[in-house]
Amino acid sequence: MTLLFWSCVGCDGAMPWCDNCDEYRAPNSLKTDGHCATCDSEVDVADLKEANQAPVKAPWHFWLMVIALALYLGWRVIEGVIWIFGKI
Ligand SMILES: [Zn+2]
Repeated sequence: MTLLFWSCVGCDGAMPWCDNCDEYRAPNSLKTDGHCATCDSEVDVADLKEANQAPVKAPWHFWLMVIALALYLGWRVIEGVIWIFGKI
C-alpha cells in the first residue's frame, strides 16, 4: 500500500518546469503571463520529472504506529466491555 504525498497542494501535482533554468518553479512564482520570473522563458507544465510523479511510500514506523494504535484502541474496547458487564 502506498500513500501519495504531493509537494504542491492545489495544482494537481503538476509543477512548472523551466528548461532554460533547469529548475521547477512554484506556480505562484511565475509571471502573470505564465513565463519564468528569472529568465522570462516559457515554462512547461506537462514536462514533469519522473521523481515528482513517483508516489512516496509511508515509512515503516508509520505502520508500526498504526498497529500500536489499533492494539491500544482494541484493548480499550475490551476494557470498556468488561467494565459495562461489571456494572450490570
Ligand atoms: Zn527560467
